[in-house]
Amino acid sequence: MKIHEYQARDLLASYNIPVPAGEVITSADQAVQAYKSIVKDAGSTLAVVKAQVFAGGRGKAGFVKLVNSPDEALEAAKFMLSNKMVSAQTGADGLEVNKVLIAAGVDIANREDGNPDEYYLAITTDRNSRVNTLIASREGGVEIEQVAHDNPDAIIKTTIHPILGLQPYQAREVAFKLGFKGKQIGQAVKIMLALAKLYTDKDCSIAEINPLVVTDATEANPHGQVMAIDAKFNFDDNATFRHKDIAALYDPTEDNPAEVRASKMGLSYIALDGNIGCLVNGAGLAMATMDTIKLFDGEPANFLDVGGSATEEAVTEAFRIILSDEAVNGILVNIFGGIMRCDIIAQGIVNAAKEIGFTIPLVVRLEGTNVDAGRKILEEAAGDLPTLQAASDLGDAAQKVVAAVG
Ligand code: GDP
Ligand code: MG
Repeated sequence: MKIHEYQARDLLASYNIPVPAGEVITSADQAVQAYKSIVKDAGSTLAVVKAQVFAGGRGKAGFVKLVNSPDEALEAAKFMLSNKMVSAQTGADGLEVNKVLIAAGVDIANREDGNPDEYYLAITTDRNSRVNTLIASREGGVEIEQVAHDNPDAIIKTTIHPILGLQPYQAREVAFKLGFKGKQIGQAVKIMLALAKLYTDKDCSIAEINPLVVTDATEANPHGQVMAIDAKFNFDDNATFRHKDIAALYDPTEDNPAEVRASKMGLSYIALDGNIGCLVNGAGLAMATMDTIKLFDGEPANFLDVGGSATEEAVTEAFRIILSDEAVNGILVNIFGGIMRCDIIAQGIVNAAKEIGFTIPLVVRLEGTNVDAGRKILEEAAGDLPTLQAASDLGDAAQKVVAAVG
């Protein structure tokens, strides 16, 4: 599960990681008011207007804008709320922006080379070593993907002990390697330790601050202040049941509507780009079905696991979801009846056909418990299912559906 940047900032703040104050708006006419209240408290006219979408690369796409007046804030908010954002992380269609954050702007210190003093700091699970790992770089900011690609030595990785957690000495070592000076070291260490605690406390799968910045020096803070100005979190979906506070942050409007609908019915559905809808029970069988379709030069339109104990109602809903994808012009049903009986699936197909009506080719392969009863139900309902073809095995099914969609 992903959350928005403004929610991520609140989460960081609740772990005493410094972040600038901000306000979220959902329509442009709230921008002036939000800007005024932010700059009044911040004591500077600089604010930043930021699109709240589940994708990065906003800065480069023009969806992070520094502003110095209410009019500029209004104009930036209007632009973001009425244009789709296209970045390296969105795909060509881009994302609609429904929320905009207006936050106090930060005067970022400059390095000797003239670049802003921006760092990258993240925690995620390293799949190779199978432990949580702190990842840090002095070359943070909008070019981090490029840095990781061109100059991997600029990325520092520190293994986090599964029981002891990130140790203060490790955080200090990273702070030194990042080049922090004086009071910045203690501030950076506190931030790293807090981020590591947050990561485990909340069952995150990614906790990322990019950039972590050092602010301009002032008399009170001759080394500036280390703070987070952008953050991204992912959470383990299988653990949200024990974090009601995190689950409450879920924003369904940012997910694929069909996927949201499916998850309500307990179906695992992932939309893909092809034209052959798949209805399968079991994740492994669903993967095998997709592979077999591809083997015969077809393209699956989705991954769909109806689970081991789906009801007739869930099967009907699964068909509706598949058919809601306009690209679908054929469906392959592949069911192994174990816990889920073939007759239930067959009845689901017949009911769905009566309710929704199939006008596109439907290839069904049933095997396992009550398979004969299942086949009989389908045969008897042939009148309702003029486009149905039965298949003898998976290879046969894939070939039939690929041929049927042309
Ligand atoms: P992203 O492009 O989606 O990762 O959005 P970020 O929030 O990371 O912003 C991109 C870049 O905009 C940052 O790396 C900064 O260089 C700049 N930026 C964002 N907020 C501020 C701010 O408050 N002050 C200044 N000076 N620059 C900012
Ligand atoms: Mg960023």
